[in-house]
Amino acid sequence: MWRVGYVLVSLAAFASALEDDPYHPVMPERSLNPALLARGEDVASYWVENAQAPLRGLKSEGKKARNVIMFLGDGMSVPTLAAARTLLGQRSKRTGEESKLSFEEFPTTGLSKTYCVNAQIADSACSATAYLCGVKANQGTLGVTAAVPRRNCSASLDPAHRLDSIAAWALADGRDAGIVTSARVTHASPAGAYAHSAERGWESDADLGEDSPLCSDIAMQLVHENPGKQFKVILGGGRREFLSKDFVDNEGKKGTRTDGRNLINEWQEDKRVRNESYAYVWNRDQLVEANATLPNYLLGLFESSHLQYNLLRNITSEPTLAELTEVAIRILSKNEKGFFLFVEGGRIDHAHHSNYVELALDETIELSAAVSRASELLSEEDSLLVVTADHAHVMAFNGYTARGNDVLGASRGMDLTGAPYMTLSYTNGPGYRPAVDGIRPDVTAEENYHRDPKWRSHVDVPLSSETHGGDDVAVFARGPQHHIFTGLYEQNHIPHRMAYAACIGPGLHACNGAFRVANLPQLPSSVYLVASSGAPARDEFVKMMRRRVLLSLNLLIVLASVQYSIGDEYHNGLRELLRAERFKRNEEESSSGYWIRQAQESVGRRAGIAGGRAGGAVTGGAARNVVLFLGDGMSVPTLTAARTLLGQRESHTGEETHLFFEDFPTSGLAKTYCVDAQVADSACTATSYLCGVKTNRGTIGVTAAVERGDCDASTDRSSHVESIATWALADGRDAGIVTSARVTHASPAGAYAHVAQRDWESDANVRADRHDPDSCPDIAYQLVHQHPGVDFKVILGGGRREFLPSNTFDEEGTQGHRLDGRNLIEEWQIDKIARNVSYRYVWNREQLLNTNDDLPEYLLGLFEGSHLRYNMEADSRTEPSLADLTETAIRSLRRNDRGFFLFVEGGRIDHAHHENRATLALDETIELSKAVERAAAMLSEEDSLLVVTADHAHVMALNGYTHRGGDILGVSDSLGDDGIPYMTLSYTNGPGYRDPVDDKRADVTKDEDFGSPQWVSPASVPLSSETHGGDDVAVFARGAPEPNVHRPLRAEQHSSPHGLRGLHRTWFTCIGALVPGRAGCPLGALGRIPRSGSRLEELVPTS
Ligand SMILES: [Zn+2]
Ligand SMILES: [Zn+2]
Repeated sequence: MWRVGYVLVSLAAFASALEDDPYHPVMPERSLNPALLARGEDVASYWVENAQAPLRGLKSEGKKARNVIMFLGDGMSVPTLAAARTLLGQRSKRTGEESKLSFEEFPTTGLSKTYCVNAQIADSACSATAYLCGVKANQGTLGVTAAVPRRNCSASLDPAHRLDSIAAWALADGRDAGIVTSARVTHASPAGAYAHSAERGWESDADLGEDSPLCSDIAMQLVHENPGKQFKVILGGGRREFLSKDFVDNEGKKGTRTDGRNLINEWQEDKRVRNESYAYVWNRDQLVEANATLPNYLLGLFESSHLQYNLLRNITSEPTLAELTEVAIRILSKNEKGFFLFVEGGRIDHAHHSNYVELALDETIELSAAVSRASELLSEEDSLLVVTADHAHVMAFNGYTARGNDVLGASRGMDLTGAPYMTLSYTNGPGYRPAVDGIRPDVTAEENYHRDPKWRSHVDVPLSSETHGGDDVAVFARGPQHHIFTGLYEQNHIPHRMAYAACIGPGLHACNGAFRVANLPQLPSSVYLVASSGAPARDEFVKMMRRRVLLSLNLLIVLASVQYSIGDEYHNGLRELLRAERFKRNEEESSSGYWIRQAQESVGRRAGIAGGRAGGAVTGGAARNVVLFLGDGMSVPTLTAARTLLGQRESHTGEETHLFFEDFPTSGLAKTYCVDAQVADSACTATSYLCGVKTNRGTIGVTAAVERGDCDASTDRSSHVESIATWALADGRDAGIVTSARVTHASPAGAYAHVAQRDWESDANVRADRHDPDSCPDIAYQLVHQHPGVDFKVILGGGRREFLPSNTFDEEGTQGHRLDGRNLIEEWQIDKIARNVSYRYVWNREQLLNTNDDLPEYLLGLFEGSHLRYNMEADSRTEPSLADLTETAIRSLRRNDRGFFLFVEGGRIDHAHHENRATLALDETIELSKAVERAAAMLSEEDSLLVVTADHAHVMALNGYTHRGGDILGVSDSLGDDGIPYMTLSYTNGPGYRDPVDDKRADVTKDEDFGSPQWVSPASVPLSSETHGGDDVAVFARGAPEPNVHRPLRAEQHSSPHGLRGLHRTWFTCIGALVPGRAGCPLGALGRIPRSGSRLEELVPTS
C-alpha cells in the first residue's frame, strides 16, 4: 500500500479559516501524492481529457438543450434518497417505500465518484469545482486546479490554475446564468459557479486576513468579477458576507466585512450604471413582487447566513427553494438563447452534520419540490435537468424494519442489551450518547424524541460535526441527451456532459455547431408563487406532527424476539419480527399480476423510447445469452470501498480504480423493499429480481399471498411465480446456477424453488417447523427432482449437507442434514442415467477443471458442506474461485445454439458484512468482479447480456475525511472528540460493537488482531448479526449493444427480469411466458414496438 511522502502541513495555518463553518472542520493538509502528480492530476487538461474521452464515441443526434438546470442536493447520499422518499410517502399516509421523489421519475440514472485529488472523501468545495468546472481539485479550494494548495493565494492567481465554470461557458455563448441556494450564496457549492479561491472559507474580506492581500473574497468576486457580475439571478442567504461589521441589516443582523463596503449597494450601483433593470429583495413579499415585474437582474438575500431549515423557517418572510427556483427560471427564460441555472438544496448537508435526520430528509423533499416546479415550467424538449449530490453522508438505513414502519422511528428489533435502535442512524457525529454503567442508553426514552425536528439520531463516534461519506452519489437526468448521464463516472464528467448536451463550452458538442434556437419557450402562466401562502404549509406541518405522535405510540407495540436455531446463522429472528406489526398496504401487492403489470409498463416505456429514436423500428440483435450476477448485500458504499481496495492492492491510491463491471455502459438503481419489508432479505428480493414479482420477506417463488412459513398456502399453485430460468428453458435455451453460498440458499433458490420459508433447505428444517415435506418439499429436493431445477445443465456452489442423510458424512467429513434418508446427490445422478444423458458430479477444484476439457451434458458441483469458504480463507487448491465456477458454467451452457440463462452469485459479501468483517466483504466483491470479467472475456457483447446488481444493501459506511489514497481498511485521518481513532469503514450495528471502557468508546486499533482479515470492524449498536440496509442498490448492464445510446436503467427491483425477457436489445431477450411470439425471435418478426405508456396487452407482440 502506498504510504510514503505525506507531509503534514501546520495545522495552525488553518485555525482561523473556518471558525464560521461549524460543519466542516479543517483537516491537516498533506502534500500531493507524487504518483498523482506524475500522472498530471494537478493539471486541468488531465481531467478535461478524462471527461471528454467518453464523449468522443457519441454520434451527435437527438435534441440539444437550450436550457440546463443543475440541481445539487448537498450531501444527498443514496441512503438519503431512499429514506426521504419513504418519509414523503408516509406524509401522504402511505407505506412510503413505493414513493418516488420527483427526479427519481427521470428516465436516466447514473452514479458519480466524488473523491477529490487529495481527498478520499470530498468536501463541497473541491466537488463543486468538479461538477461545475469539470476538473477535480484539492479539498477546500474553488475554481482552481490541484496545483493550488489550500489557502495558497498566490498560486490561485496564476491564470494557468484558474478554471471556468459551466456558468461562464453559458454566458460566453450569449445565454444567461444564475444561482439559487438555501445556503449562503457565497458558500462552497454555489461559489463553484463563479469563484476562484484557494480557500472556501474566504467568503468575506474578514476571512481572508492580512496574509493574502492580493486575493479577493468570494462575495467580492460575485459582485465585481466575471462571471458573477453577469449573473441575472442570485438568490439565497448570506447577507452578512456583503455588509460591513458595523452595518445592521433589515433583520437586525450585523455584517462581517472589515473593509467598510456595502456590496449589496455596489451590486445595485453596477446595474444602474449599466442601465439595466434590477431589484434587490430580502423577504418573500418582495420576491413575489419581483416575480411580477421580472427585472433583468435580481439579487435576493433572505437571511444573514443560511436560509432557515424549511421546517423551522418563518413561512411569511422566507421563500421555499421551489419559489426561488420558479422566479429564477422566469427571469432567465427572457433570454431566447437559453440559460444555465444552478439550484442547491444546501441544508441537507448541514442537517446531516448535526445528525438531525428529519431535517435532512425534509430538505431533500424540498429539493424534490423545486425540481418538480422546474419540470412543470420547462419543456423536456429543450431543457436538460440534472439532479445529483456533491458527496455522501454516513447515515445508514438499518434494521429489519417492516414495510410502512415510521422511517423516523426505531427499528423493529432491539439490540443485545434490549435497547431499541433507530432505523436511521449515523456512524459518527454530535448525536453520540455516552454509555451509562457500560450500557448503551435508550434514545427513544429521551424527552424530545420524535417531537423535536432537532432531536439527534444516535451515533457511534463522538464528533462535533458528523462527517461526509465517501460512497458514490446518484445522478438523475431528464431532457435532451439525458441518456449520456447513465453509467458510473467521475464527478468532473458532469459539466462536460451538460455542456455537450447544451453545445456550450470548449469541449465536444452534441450539435457540432449546428445548434438552432427554436421558438421562444412559453412558460405556463403560473400562480404558484402567489398561491402558496404560508398558512396551508403550517397546517400540514401541525397535522404531520400529530400523526407522528400517533405513529410513535404504535411503535410501543414491540414483540419479544424468539431465537431461531435451525438454518441461517446470519438471518435469524427475522420471521418473528415479521409477524409483529400489522400495517396497511395495497392489497393488490399480494398478486403477481400487479407487479408484472407494473414492470411490463416500465419495460414498455423504455422500449417506446428506443423505438421512437430508431424511427419506430427495432434494429440490432436481441440477447441470446443472459448472465445475471448478484452481489449479495453489495451496497453502493461496498462498491466504492471495494474498488478502492482493488486499486490499493495494485499500489495505486485506489479511488480512481473501477471494478470490472463498473465500466459497463449502462447503470441504474433498484429499489429493494419487499411487500412486507422496508428493509429486504435475500429471499423476497430473489423472487423480485428472478421472478419479477415482489413478495414477503423469507419466501421464495411465491406471491405475497403466502405468508412466511405458511406451508398450506404455498401448495396452492396459483401462488407460484416462475423465474427467468424457467422462461429460458421453455424457449429451448439452457439454464444454470453458480454461487459461493449453498446452492439451496435464498438467492440461487429464487431461480427454481417455490417455498414459504427460505430456511427449508433440507427436509429436516421443514420437519422442525412441523410441516410435512411431502406437502412442502424442501429446497434441495426441489432442485434435484422438480422443474426447472431438474433441467438445469449446471449447478455449482456449496451446500452438500442439504443433499445428504444425517447418518452420512460427505467427502470432507461434513455430516448430512437430511432426516428422510435420501442421498440427493445420488438421486440427481440416477435421474440423469434414467434420461440417458451424460452427467458428472464433482466436489473439488481439480475435478471441476478437468471437466472443462470433457464437458458432460449435466454438471453438479458441490464444493463444501455449507457455503464455500471466504476467498481469503479458502484453500485455493481444493476450492474453486467464483471465476472458475463461472467459466465452467459458461463453457457448458454456450453449447446450446439457442442460448442460455445463467445466475451467478457472490453470496458471501452478505455474510462478511453480517459479521462486520469489512475486509472480507470487499474481497468477496472483488471476487465477483473477477467472475464478471471472466464471463465478459468468453461472451460476445453482440449477443450476450451481462447484468450485475445486488439484492439489498448493508449498513457499512465510508466515513471520516480520509486523504486520497488513505488505507481504505485503516483509520480515518482524525480522531473522535473522545481522542480515540475511528475507522474509515464502520457499521451502524452488528457483532463488532465493543463494550465501553469506563463508559468511553473502546480503541479498536489496539485490538490484537487489528488489520487481519479476521478482525471485526466496529459497530454502534450491539447485534449478533449486522442487519441489511434499506437503501437502493446499483445495476450495471452490458451487451447486445446499441450504438451511441446507453440505455437508461432504473426501476423497482422486480422490473429487471421483465426487462431481460422482453423485446429489445440491452433490455430484452426473446423469452418469457408473456411473449408468445417466440418463433419471431430474435426480433425479425416482432409485431410492433410497445409505445410509451403501453398496456400489458399491447406489449405482447403479434406474430
Ligand atoms: Zn458538509
Ligand atoms: Zn443477509
